Amino acid sequence: MQTVVELQDLTHVYVNGRGASLALEQISLQVTQGEFISLIGPSGCGKTTLLSLISGLLTPTAGTVRIAGELIKRPTPKVGYMLQQDYLFPWRTIYENASIGLELMGRKDPAARSFVLELLDDMGLSDYADSYPQQLSGGMRQRVALVRTLATEPDILLLDEPFSALDYQTKLQLEDLVAVTLRSRNKTAILVTHDISEAIAMSDRIVVLQPRPGRIRATVDVPEPIRSAIPLKAREEAGFHNLFHRLWGLFEEMDGDGVSTNG
Ligand code: ADP
Ligand code: MG
Repeated sequence: MQTVVELQDLTHVYVNGRGASLALEQISLQVTQGEFISLIGPSGCGKTTLLSLISGLLTPTAGTVRIAGELIKRPTPKVGYMLQQDYLFPWRTIYENASIGLELMGRKDPAARSFVLELLDDMGLSDYADSYPQQLSGGMRQRVALVRTLATEPDILLLDEPFSALDYQTKLQLEDLVAVTLRSRNKTAILVTHDISEAIAMSDRIVVLQPRPGRIRATVDVPEPIRSAIPLKAREEAGFHNLFHRLWGLFEEMDGDGVSTNG
């Protein structure tokens, strides 16, 4: 299988007026084409920092990020980034928000337009193309953010807690929609979540990070048939609860190391 994301000995130190802090140390990870990975771990363990390094928004203090074999030093259109907050512009329509990435790339041709409309349709938003963000629910707005991310056709999606601000039912629905959409398009995804069951339900593989400094604590393969079930059904599979408890145990061990899992 083709490796699309390759992290080698990534270390990141934040330096500011108050000094230097080691956020990530010696992270090595390979992700193959089409794989869905979740990063879980207590607050402050470096999950967002790791996504920022992969996206090229941050430059690592040491180590390398390669995307499809290419050394990453700045953001690339191969990688799309979706955040917890949707950051939709209130003065732009849904269509205009969804097509902003293409616009920034100078793509305003009819093919680009019909692709965005097609994606809005896939996400059940075709009636809202001319609406404004404040007219939409939180779940709908996150679907617009997903369309905006997919519109520039990245091969790899980085998802930083995209469901955590949503109510439980909407979150479950969106998990299914995202999982099915990314799988059918053979996208590679790296999801950050602090929700263990979401990680199991959505992923092929789970990477557990420990804090201070952020390091990989464990890597856990999600077994079949949980892996190929859609997230809602995955939660009903035999084996789901065993895996949940195993991961929960890892979190408790980190607590035992004097690490807080709050927040
Ligand atoms: P997570 O996403 O897992 O909660 P972060 O990647 O946001 O963790 O943060 C990892 C560590 O780096 C934390 O200790 C945090 O306080 C620190 N950190 C994050 N961003 C900055 C920054 N811009 N300047 C200094 N320290 C930072
Ligand atoms: Mg974070």
